[in-house]
Amino acid sequence: MYVEIAVCLPLSRSFVYKLTDPVEIGSRVVVPFRKHEEDGFVVGLRKDAPAGFEIQSILKVVDPQPLIGPDVFKLCRWISDYYLAPFGEVLKAALPPGITPKHVARNVEAPPAARTPRSDDRLLTTDQLSALFAIQETPGFHTVLLHGVTGSGKTEVYLRAAQHFLGQGKSTLILVPEIGLTPQLTQRFSERFPGMTAILHSSLTKRQRIDEWLRIRSGSIPIVIGTRSAVFAPLDNIGLIVVDEEHETTFKQEELPRYNGRDTAVMRAKFAGCAAVLGSATPSMESFRNAEAKKYTYVPMATRVEDRSMPAVEIVNMRDEYSGQGKPVLFSKRLLDAAAERLERREQTMILLNRRGFAAFLLCRKCGLTFTCTSCSVAMTFHKGIGRLLCHYCGFSKKPPSRCPDCNSEYIHYVGEGTERIEADLKALFPDAAVARIDRDTMRHLRDYQRILGDFRAGNIDIVVGTQMIAKGHDFPNVTLVGVVAADAALALPDFRAAERTFQLLTQVAGRSGRGSQPGEVIIQSYFPDHYAFQLATTHRFEDFYAREARYRKAMFYPPFASLAGIMVLDRDAGAAARLARKVSDFLDSVRNDSIRILGPAPAPLERLKQIYRHQLLLKSSSRPALHDALHRLQQHLEEQKIGPTKVIVDVDPISLL
Ligand SMILES: [Zn+2]
Ligand SMILES: [Zn+2]
Repeated sequence: MYVEIAVCLPLSRSFVYKLTDPVEIGSRVVVPFRKHEEDGFVVGLRKDAPAGFEIQSILKVVDPQPLIGPDVFKLCRWISDYYLAPFGEVLKAALPPGITPKHVARNVEAPPAARTPRSDDRLLTTDQLSALFAIQETPGFHTVLLHGVTGSGKTEVYLRAAQHFLGQGKSTLILVPEIGLTPQLTQRFSERFPGMTAILHSSLTKRQRIDEWLRIRSGSIPIVIGTRSAVFAPLDNIGLIVVDEEHETTFKQEELPRYNGRDTAVMRAKFAGCAAVLGSATPSMESFRNAEAKKYTYVPMATRVEDRSMPAVEIVNMRDEYSGQGKPVLFSKRLLDAAAERLERREQTMILLNRRGFAAFLLCRKCGLTFTCTSCSVAMTFHKGIGRLLCHYCGFSKKPPSRCPDCNSEYIHYVGEGTERIEADLKALFPDAAVARIDRDTMRHLRDYQRILGDFRAGNIDIVVGTQMIAKGHDFPNVTLVGVVAADAALALPDFRAAERTFQLLTQVAGRSGRGSQPGEVIIQSYFPDHYAFQLATTHRFEDFYAREARYRKAMFYPPFASLAGIMVLDRDAGAAARLARKVSDFLDSVRNDSIRILGPAPAPLERLKQIYRHQLLLKSSSRPALHDALHRLQQHLEEQKIGPTKVIVDVDPISLL
């Protein structure tokens, strides 16, 4: 008998082998491949072999019974095709690393004991009831976009829907952007469904991950919460798939196999014939467009639970502050007064600045030299705590010089502030206040994070300073002031989603304020206070933002009004990268139809990263099939030329264009 094998290597095609023992689709095998032994998966069975080739035998069947069920297999095939991801690599990503038949044999789980969820009899709001109706009362596959303002009670909707499907003997899968950033959601599920919830997070050991995976597969755990790779969880009989904070970029995997966990989750729901729920306070342009086109059922939840009011948002024009005080300042008088009031009233404040470190960069005021990383084309950030300049892309660090290496001047100046500087300044301004910082430098482990959040909740901290990590789904009832310093930073990025990201960030962080009985206040500092992303965030008018942003996307032919693919060409040599990018562009030009526009090739905004030069092309098309066809031809062409995915990266529906 002959089988088709997808080898676990970055190759798009499968290869034919022969074997004597029977085997099933989805089984893992070891095969001889280009003078090596490689892992692979059985992806097809066939009676005959292609003529004119010497067919080799499979060396070993690893799993006689495939670990990947038919549903997940089908999902992997879809990912492989849609994202042009190597099928073998996708299948490998669907299994916990290191799982062997021994683990499977040892795992003889007792039949699940009868467990009952704790019930919660609190009355639901009208919005919550409508949401549940839309999720539960439509049979078969359908997608609900749950657009709930921060504090509207989306989690309770997920809990009740999961309970409903559990009552029908069906399981629930919940995807979250990061486990550490959604502690409340995971905690509430574990409390409501004791012994029935598995949480797949990155701090699990290899062994724990395998055990959890096997428990889910045995059918004894009907509720699974995890990050994007949990979309492959071996759940049977799924009734509900939830993607919480669906607008978050972390659902996109930025390495092979490149896929978007949110969109893959919707496909999984489609294959399973079940309900999909995408929840967000600031839906992505793509999902809102799908709702507008009636592909998704749109359910708004516009009021906060217990009729709490939305926080009052105010923008402070920093140009006025500048002229008023005659010098650039970090904090406006308005923000400082408001923070002082909170200290007096024993209420809490959050200050957001989306930049780590002490100073954004170092500048020689005499000759204008800035200090960039030797491996990447980015300025190095000064971190005062460690007394070093640090590259945020590759981690390289060095001691800042006391004199300019070019002109020997001693006028070395620190420009632009980061969270470390904000924290230091606030401590100086409010010496009696307890100030803490949350960013990737202070939060090395999940437990650091939980400790600070615990202290903050207990009221031992008055002011928390942080990056976007503090903007996520936390619920601190005593926070009545949120300040956003340098809100313009995200707008300046060379990315067509810059305004969307800014609007989302401001809305999310504003939602942290006033979640208790006291009304909340938000103060945003900006040099461009008239920008629509700021103006519309102050009034919580998502629909107006969508309409304004949609005009721009339509005019510029960007998603969700065009299909997009990014192609990144990499080489250690700048000239070689440029030449290969040109070749790729010429090839695409020869196979594309009129619906496809090619932008570039051009050096990427981050032209050099970890010593590799990067050139990019962008493909836009009004026709998804035409774009897909051109990319498949390119992939085939590159493989014939033996140009691998380390040289040319194809990214379908790219999230980041840096
Ligand atoms: Zn100089
Ligand atoms: Zn670097």
